[in-house]
Amino acid sequence: MGLTGLEIFKQLPKTNCGECGVPTCLAFAMALASGKATLSQCPYVSDAAREALESATAPPMRLVKVGAGDNVLEIGDEQVIFRHDKTFFHPTGIFIELDDTLSADEIAAKVDEISGFVVERVGEQYVIDGVAVKNASGNADSFKKAVEAVADRTNKVLALLTEDPAAMEAAASAVADRKPLLYAATADNYEKMVEVAKKIGAPLAVRGNDLNSLAELVDKVVGLGYKELVLDSGERQTSKVLADLTQMRRLSIKKRFRTFGYPTIAFTTEEDAVGEALQAQVYVSKFASIVVMKNASEPALLTLLTWRRNIYTDPQKPIAVQPGVYAIGDVTPDSPVYITTNFSLTYYTVATEVEATRLPSYLIAFDTDGLSVMTAWAGGKFVGEEIGPWLKDSDINEKVSHKKLIIPGGVAAIKGKLEDLSGWEVIVGPREASGITSFAKLRLGA
Ligand code: SF4
Repeated sequence: MGLTGLEIFKQLPKTNCGECGVPTCLAFAMALASGKATLSQCPYVSDAAREALESATAPPMRLVKVGAGDNVLEIGDEQVIFRHDKTFFHPTGIFIELDDTLSADEIAAKVDEISGFVVERVGEQYVIDGVAVKNASGNADSFKKAVEAVADRTNKVLALLTEDPAAMEAAASAVADRKPLLYAATADNYEKMVEVAKKIGAPLAVRGNDLNSLAELVDKVVGLGYKELVLDSGERQTSKVLADLTQMRRLSIKKRFRTFGYPTIAFTTEEDAVGEALQAQVYVSKFASIVVMKNASEPALLTLLTWRRNIYTDPQKPIAVQPGVYAIGDVTPDSPVYITTNFSLTYYTVATEVEATRLPSYLIAFDTDGLSVMTAWAGGKFVGEEIGPWLKDSDINEKVSHKKLIIPGGVAAIKGKLEDLSGWEVIVGPREASGITSFAKLRLGA
């Protein structure tokens, strides 16, 4: 259980010096208790108080890193059960499983398929995070060769799946610099698996047969001095996995049960790609940190990754693009100039439609703090009084030889004030982005 703000306050220096970023020790204690501050922000905590407070004020779930260099997957460190309470911080890593019984050519083809999966959507790239190599052969040499072949062909994050400590040690040592996830320590092998994990400094997955056996095993592994852990209750039936993931999240966040204060891993079992993607969506929603799948079907993965993006979007922060003037196509001084807001979805919808006109154009993403056109207009952020002065001084004036601005039809009412304050002629465009093509044909000769 975590300490209350008052319990923490009793251990603080009570000098109210403000160096921690808040004016009083009491305010700092409250921030610590709610997870909004860290103990290191106060330089004056005594050693005895630090010892007493450190474990009580540590985040409820440990941050674990899988991978190395430019390709590191951070998982865990979540602070809430429901995203609307705050936000979720570290999106579920999606791994595709590959058996070491495949031929060299088959491994190469599958790795290329995984690496080649890149989908661009609203300005972001959706990719698969990692490759999980399974010791399906039961042979340590085959496993090591397969792991090396995968590591040579891709810089994706790696997970090594074997319960044989000797096979794990050989394969993990070969790719030690990649800091792969080692799966899994069980009741039968955990001492040796901890040794391997310690030796290469890689995170270790711990698998129980149910939550009780998992809790016992985690305590034993932690007792050996290793805490870079990822937890698996061992269940594979969707409803039971969901129940276990939910229990672990609730116990770690609400009860501060340290034994389950680690990220989690789940494995899909559905054979067909759509069923598997649905099963993975359940685990992404609640509350897997990594999901290991078998299929890399593009349509199924696209829905899964879109879902993941939605779950891990900060509900209090609209997704926005950088405000500014964007060129679409080979623009010239005669190119038309459109304006919209910097809400990602709006911007990319309009940009796609402008591109479809095949008429090189400028598109202004006006800073509305990520609000859509009508919301920003209603909130006074997309109005003549805001856009006019900005437009007058904008560098778009140097880029084009005309002063004609196309505004969304829904905010036609801003035309007069915008013209007065900018000196530009304002042309009212279509209400919906879908009307841009016909608008451009009729009005711009596209
Ligand atoms: S830095 Fe420490 S002593 Fe100073 S106000 Fe913050 S908690 Fe109190």
